[in-house]
Amino acid sequence: MADLILKPGKARSLQRRHPWIFAGSVDRLEGRARPGDTVLVKDATGQPLARAAWSPASQIRARVWSFDPAVVIDHAWFKRTVAASVARRAGHPHLAGQEGLRLIHGEADGLPGVIADRYGPVVVLQLTSAGADKWREALVAALVQATGCQAVYERSDSEVRKLEGLEPVAGCVHGELPLPLTILENGVRLEVDPVAGHKTGFYLDQRDNRRLTGELAAGRAVLNCFCYTGGFSLQALAGGAASVVSIDSSGPALATAARNLALNPQLDPTRAEWREEDVFQALRALKAEGRRFDLVILDPPKFAPSAAHAERAARAYKDINLHGFRLLNPGGILMTYSCSGGVGLELFQQIVAGAACDAGVEGRVLHRLSAAPDHPIGLGAPEGEYLKGLVCQVG
Ligand code: SAH
Repeated sequence: MADLILKPGKARSLQRRHPWIFAGSVDRLEGRARPGDTVLVKDATGQPLARAAWSPASQIRARVWSFDPAVVIDHAWFKRTVAASVARRAGHPHLAGQEGLRLIHGEADGLPGVIADRYGPVVVLQLTSAGADKWREALVAALVQATGCQAVYERSDSEVRKLEGLEPVAGCVHGELPLPLTILENGVRLEVDPVAGHKTGFYLDQRDNRRLTGELAAGRAVLNCFCYTGGFSLQALAGGAASVVSIDSSGPALATAARNLALNPQLDPTRAEWREEDVFQALRALKAEGRRFDLVILDPPKFAPSAAHAERAARAYKDINLHGFRLLNPGGILMTYSCSGGVGLELFQQIVAGAACDAGVEGRVLHRLSAAPDHPIGLGAPEGEYLKGLVCQVG
């Protein structure tokens, strides 16, 4: 095994349990390592600190598997670590028994570059680092053993793989995919498509925020922007919304949303209106049509993948929030989200405050929201926090 020697003074973040070693911290590699191989990380004095996966193509040159340098990274280690991650969920009252559940959330679960989402009998695996890619077989075997799942489907087609020098990979790696696949979430049945859906098929991180939407929606006229397959819309209907207008630019997502509504005969389809439109234009068109709402949901895609995009993203967030506020009746509620890692909560709240000001409304924050607890944030790596939400009331 090769040794990765850090530059003097570059061991601090590792000692604080941050699992990334950036190129600028690496002094040299002693010995040979191929992409994904495990290396022993040492400080400049030769003191062993951690075992990590070597990724020569990436600016994140190595990602820590274990802060115990004596630990051997092998099939048995993956079996233990995956089982522990799955077991943590089973011990949480909001997570135990969920049909749709994130089982492994990368760095925060001690498995950098590994995402595993359970949808009923299926686990969808996404590998985004050289180290994770190398241990595919061990991860699949460990997941099958820890969950007893029927099938594991790999969706390693995320753009970030390019930064690690990895090609996109997708397909069944264990068993056969039972399709169509559905999950029950907060009492609503939803179709999940691991093959063609976004991410691993669904946005599990918003589960608790969708439940809150249901609780707030009773009797309200709801507008759900960027609705994807209708998760927030169906929760709002289940919560007794008077009407729900849902907008997305994706035809296939809206077709799934319509099927989802039909999967739930307890919901009144006459209260739902689906619009295949660009949200930026639709918000203006709704205003021109004289429409008004009591609850507006804005859950856009990632406008700022990194801090470098923050300024352009800020303009986009400002625009939709401004036009969202303008559509609210007095006493109305805006549920607004950002899943951009490059836009922190402070900045996001400033943008929303500016939007309220420009819309001429007085707003107050009722809730600050984040991802559900199966998407934890490592205390040593707070930049893992990406999803933030504000529930603001006006008037
Ligand atoms: N709220 C959803 C997830 C939203 S994901 C849920 O809970 O499941 C973001 C969605 O925005 C995607 O479905 C994408 O198709 C849509 N989208 C992206 N840009 C858009 C635009 N300019 N106008 C309308 N929809 C857009």
